[in-house]
Amino acid sequence: MNELRLVLSELVVERVGFGIFVLDRELNVVMWNRFMQDHSGKTAEQVIGKSIFASFPELPRVWLTRKVESVFQLGSFAFSSWEQRPYLFKFDHDRPITGGVDFMQQDCTFMPLTRERDVVAVCVTISDATHASMMQRARDEAVAKLQEYADRDGLTGIANRRYFELRLADEFARWHRYGGELSLLLFDIDHFKRINDEHGHLVGDTVLRVMAGRVAQTVRVQDVFGRFGGEEFALLLPCTGFDDAMFVAEKVRRAICETPIDVHGTRVTVSASFGGTQARKDATSSYEALINEADAALYSAKRQGRNRSVGFV
Ligand code: GH3
Ligand code: MG
Ligand code: MG
Repeated sequence: MNELRLVLSELVVERVGFGIFVLDRELNVVMWNRFMQDHSGKTAEQVIGKSIFASFPELPRVWLTRKVESVFQLGSFAFSSWEQRPYLFKFDHDRPITGGVDFMQQDCTFMPLTRERDVVAVCVTISDATHASMMQRARDEAVAKLQEYADRDGLTGIANRRYFELRLADEFARWHRYGGELSLLLFDIDHFKRINDEHGHLVGDTVLRVMAGRVAQTVRVQDVFGRFGGEEFALLLPCTGFDDAMFVAEKVRRAICETPIDVHGTRVTVSASFGGTQARKDATSSYEALINEADAALYSAKRQGRNRSVGFV
């Protein structure tokens, strides 16, 4: 019965679909199974009785030594997942399409082999986590892409209102706590209905897209540019006081109106009206209040004849 058990365990160790090898206290190889032979190209005869680093000098020496020594000292299991260390051995994987995964991704366990309570050797298993890691990477990329789409406006590619308001709430909270300066600009295209009526909705769409691209190039990367709705846009300007914000408004206004937008040979002249405001400690209670102030100033700019910027007072 014991003999049968021995034969069975040898068979399992040799045929199992993951790597098994055993190291003694000097990190010499004591056992090396078929999986390790097949993937490393080194037979048991070649590696047994020698330091693992003699056969595989590219192994992370400090890390592996520390890991094995800790198992000898503590007598407990240790684990390393591909997420912490993508691989221990540079083994080829058998995936045709790998999406940037260069070697077989590996999960490793380190198990103490004890005799009368003494740890006499450490058994290491290597399992192929390439499939799991590729699935995880693909999922992470998909989630990042979805996140990106969820934050962007489909027509112009700039922040959508939901994301803009999130950033505004965030910047407002930061300003409220730490002080500094924070300004908000709202702008609305002048007589946009006419542009749609004269040239058609598709030209209107292109005008919005080109205009948004121009504005995005005019402002700083730290500024948040968002589409608030229809042909209404917003610019959140962190670390910017009122005068500088109104300067930005004028710069953006000129960028929009000074050069007509060319849509398949049709030159469309566009202008926009701007309202601006700065968060003030004594008067601004919420970010919504800031939006209302900028909106009131924008309304005033429209009433005063459009294509201008007006600050909230
Ligand atoms: P003003 O702001 O100067 O008072 O005039 P306006 O003509 O721009 O005024 P209003 O806000 O009433 O009209 C906005 C128009 O913008 C109405 C709507 O059809 C158009 N619009 C809103 N969203 C889009 C869009 O995504 N594409 C196009 N082509 N038009 C849009
Ligand atoms: Mg308008
Ligand atoms: Mg409007």
